[in-house]
Amino acid sequence: MMCPKCAGKTTVVGGVNGLVRERFRKCLECGYTFQTVEAIKFDSFWGEYAKDIYEIDKKEFEKKDKKNEGKN
Ligand SMILES: [Zn+2]
Repeated sequence: MMCPKCAGKTTVVGGVNGLVRERFRKCLECGYTFQTVEAIKFDSFWGEYAKDIYEIDKKEFEKKDKKNEGKN
């Protein structure tokens, strides 16, 4: 992740792990410190997202299947 102040390279200097993962970062260029948070997104959204991916994959699979039938 880049520094929000100078877009320099940053390094992780610490963190807290739980349901929410917090990371403390320090910029190697200007020394600015900031925090990032990684949180869980619940399945009300991801369930729908996964369904979309499955439908797309299924269609692609069916297409390939028909192509193979044509060759034989
Ligand atoms: Zn910086």
